[in-house]
Amino acid sequence: MNIFDTHAHFPEDPYRISELLERASSAGVSQLMAVGGSGELNRAAFLAASTAKASASAPTVRLALGLDRDQVGSACPSCPKYDLSIVIDNRKTLSAIGEIGLDFHYTPETAKAQCDLFAAQLELAKELDLPVVIHTRDADDATLGVLDENDFHNGIIHCFTGSVPFERKLLDRGFMISISGIVTFRAAENVREAARYAPDDRLLIETDSPFLAPVPMRGTENEPSFLPYTLKFLAEQRNTSPEALAVLTTENARRILKC
Ligand SMILES: [Zn+2]
Repeated sequence: MNIFDTHAHFPEDPYRISELLERASSAGVSQLMAVGGSGELNRAAFLAASTAKASASAPTVRLALGLDRDQVGSACPSCPKYDLSIVIDNRKTLSAIGEIGLDFHYTPETAKAQCDLFAAQLELAKELDLPVVIHTRDADDATLGVLDENDFHNGIIHCFTGSVPFERKLLDRGFMISISGIVTFRAAENVREAARYAPDDRLLIETDSPFLAPVPMRGTENEPSFLPYTLKFLAEQRNTSPEALAVLTTENARRILKC
């Protein structure tokens, strides 16, 4: 089976990266996207991509770099704009900008700064003709507001945990919906509903490792090799086979990431 994990974070440790990539490959995860978001996550994602390139047995690794919502505090106050040089300097090696977006769950007090940083990266994504990887939590209206203000339609809503009405608005705007291991959690009926609702040509799957290990690995550190559990569960939800779902989600990932 060839599965595409569209969202994985890595540790900044070449030895552990090699182990994770090896196990992913053995589990049928033949492609994945290493995703940044902070200085540390960006360095680790970069390291994962270069480690994979040097190995014959590793999955093909695509790269997304960007500044997530927690980076607003580190923005230079006297700078006219956020420092997005990590994206600009590496633009030729990127498949996407991410992860970026809004999270008002823990830090509603930085909402305005989060929106500014999000918008600045959408503008850059347009300039560089790259899709974005969006995190959105407790920020449905603000996310739609920033997307509409920037007339932006090219990207992935990662680890979708919203409602079907919110999902419909994102689908209307052209976005892909990516489902993580949360779909296997007992309490996550809304995610299962959203996962069943997504059209065949808009669905992706991801681990978001090291977070959110799926059942039956819940409580352990997640890794790309656990993606088959989510794939199998999601296939049952959508009345299809894991094999067919792997083909479909891989095609979707390759289309949006142009790879
Ligand atoms: Zn993530």
